[in-house]
Amino acid sequence: MECKHCGIKMDNPILFYDHEDKCLDEQRINGLIKNEGGGQPPVDYNSMTVDQLKELCKSNNLEGYTALNKDDLIKFVQENIK
Ligand SMILES: [Zn+2]
Repeated sequence: MECKHCGIKMDNPILFYDHEDKCLDEQRINGLIKNEGGGQPPVDYNSMTVDQLKELCKSNNLEGYTALNKDDLIKFVQENIK
């Protein structure tokens, strides 16, 4: 089994679930610290509509996105907006 938070592989389920709990807490804490440090919170593009994604492209002065479907728009945005 593999921890979905950090990718570490463990054979012992008891240790694994124990690790996963701690790992999740750690990720949360790290995430909070990162945001407090002025970083952008992660954007969930999947929860955005096609119109919102296109609006995002537009506001970032990107081109070539108008014919893309949602999946491609998400990829486009992830590749072009840092
Ligand atoms: Zn982990």
